Amino acid sequence: MQYLEFGLKSPEKPAVIDLAGAWSYSGLASRAAHVAEALVGRHGLAQGDRVGLFLPRRKESVALLLGIFGAGGIAVPFSVRAAARELAHQIADAGVSRIIFEPSAHAVTLEAVALAKSKDADPRVIEAASLKAGGPLARDVSVTAEAPALILYTSGTTGQPKGVVHTHASLAAQVDVLFHAWEWSSEDELLHVLQLHHIHGLVNGLLGALRAGAKLRFLDTFSARAVWDEFAARHASVFYAVPTIYHQLIDCWERQDSATQQRWAQAAGQLRLAVSGSAALPARLWTRWRDLTGQALLERYGMTEIGMAISNPYRGERRPGTVGRPLPGLRVRVVSESGQDAAEGMPGEIQVNGPSLFREYWGNLGATRESFREGYFLTGDIAEMRDGYLCIRGRASVDILKSAGYKISALEIEEVLREHPAVREVAVIGVPDQQWGEIVTACVIPQAGETLTLDDLRAWCGDKLAPYKTPRRLELIQDFPRNAMGKVIKPELVRRLSAALDFR
Ligand code: AMP
Repeated sequence: MQYLEFGLKSPEKPAVIDLAGAWSYSGLASRAAHVAEALVGRHGLAQGDRVGLFLPRRKESVALLLGIFGAGGIAVPFSVRAAARELAHQIADAGVSRIIFEPSAHAVTLEAVALAKSKDADPRVIEAASLKAGGPLARDVSVTAEAPALILYTSGTTGQPKGVVHTHASLAAQVDVLFHAWEWSSEDELLHVLQLHHIHGLVNGLLGALRAGAKLRFLDTFSARAVWDEFAARHASVFYAVPTIYHQLIDCWERQDSATQQRWAQAAGQLRLAVSGSAALPARLWTRWRDLTGQALLERYGMTEIGMAISNPYRGERRPGTVGRPLPGLRVRVVSESGQDAAEGMPGEIQVNGPSLFREYWGNLGATRESFREGYFLTGDIAEMRDGYLCIRGRASVDILKSAGYKISALEIEEVLREHPAVREVAVIGVPDQQWGEIVTACVIPQAGETLTLDDLRAWCGDKLAPYKTPRRLELIQDFPRNAMGKVIKPELVRRLSAALDFR
């Protein structure tokens, strides 16, 4: 079975561990085979059918995902924190025909299915328990490397999230690149604390660990203390996280007595590899972590559409404030506004080409075409080269925010806020913040005679947006800075609010 080849060389070795215990590689393989058989035999899944599923950090999630792959289906992972409206969009957009039922998402699933029906979708809900029984596949499903395997929804600058389609080949290329570059082995154990509907947690983390025949240890709910305890119990050799998590780990460490601090720091220092990505890692945070633990965090750069493209070296100097060099097999160019390769120290857009790139945005040929030039994917991220290392300078669009490692479309949030009766005009921006990267901030001009509180806004968003997209800050404003066309100058808003924050 795909991804399990290495692991199955030692079939009794633990593959995946959660609070309820461990499954060996052979146990995982047979459970995934049962899922595949039940999907094809009992639920009539045909090749290329889209299967929506929630992936809480539990062993069962891994069997479901591999089972869908084995059955020739296309997995569409939903966020366990998504709101019904967001799910309905994904179900209808991807034409999801089956949803695997997850009890913790009971209400939201039913609401999303009802909403999706009004968009001409008609997904069938399958009980996960019904996928447990069954034998190996009666007839072999031969899935080609070029067949789509996964659709991940990601925010863009055009409002509604787009479905990024990865094939089995592009996923394999992604995990292979990291396997070699970061020297994974079957001796490794990954402590997994990331979301599984995102490239970082799903591909780098889950598939990457399995590809190496390593141990995958899930922490079902994240807490900084629990991570430190796992480090102290020597339950990890590799750790992947976003900068917000390293921030929280340091905060938690600072609140401990000195004996605990010493024990924890020493344990973290034993990690073979600790990676940060999905958002900019402030150099101060890098230095603080190194001072505490002796560990040089490895920062890398990637994106849902391209997988991981640029990384600091596993061996060699890791430079804080940089994302390193292109990974082997990836072609990366930095293109200035004039369309030329940017000179050393000059800003340009990162453009990427290579086998790990996605195939298309699902059902959106126009957006797919627009995002490529000469075979290179246009990331919209601005960087400059300094002594052979790339430094990310920000995004070309102010409408893409990054908070706690999540990519968020300002326009999607604005659409929801604009429906609020007290809102006359709204601009959503990301205000820089040490802990969150950016804080989702709603700048609102209220309707005449109306007022609004942050609590009102958050309650309004409750059933319409996932919690991480819901604004954490509200600024009531009389008017926006605007250009001659009347368009809001968001960078100016960001500047003003950042200055106001520094002042406080
Ligand atoms: P996603 O598709 O959610 O993984 O988001 C990809 C985006 O995250 C990129 O386009 C960048 O804007 C940002 N990103 C990822 N890694 C880094 C990094 N190391 N430093 C700065 N931004 C990053």
